[in-house]
Amino acid sequence: MENCLFCKIAAKQIPASIVYEDEELLAFKDIHPAAPVHLLVIPKLHVATLSDCGDGHAELLGKMLALAPRLAKEHGCAVEVTADGSRAGGFKTLINSGPDGGQEVYHLHLHMYGGPRPWRGQ
Ligand code: 5GP
Ligand code: ZN
Repeated sequence: MENCLFCKIAAKQIPASIVYEDEELLAFKDIHPAAPVHLLVIPKLHVATLSDCGDGHAELLGKMLALAPRLAKEHGCAVEVTADGSRAGGFKTLINSGPDGGQEVYHLHLHMYGGPRPWRGQ
């Protein structure tokens, strides 16, 4: 898709701090992080918004979400069970959709926030 920022990142026409790549997905650091860990997971295929998705996108969406725990482990923010049985760490996943959903870049992306709080605006 011409003039799509995240398509240009996927095509390596614009630099990004890439943390994961496979045939279908790319994950990179958000340029303006709102938390100590703030990653974006995108499909390489241009899909403007979650609102455009349906049953045919279920596998792709599943892969995007399933990548989150792997990234969490690699970036030190997986949920851990402590010695006393309580839980520590953790991360938040978010997809903004459309103007009312706060979406600014119209290429589907999953935000992944993690690390010690406070986080900005989350
Ligand atoms: P949205 O509001 O659309 O859900 O989130 C878009 C995100 O993309 C924002 O968190 C913003 O900081 C990030 N972003 C915008 N432009 C760039 C860029 O050129 N590179 C990277 N890595 N992130 C970007
Ligand atoms: Zn795109």
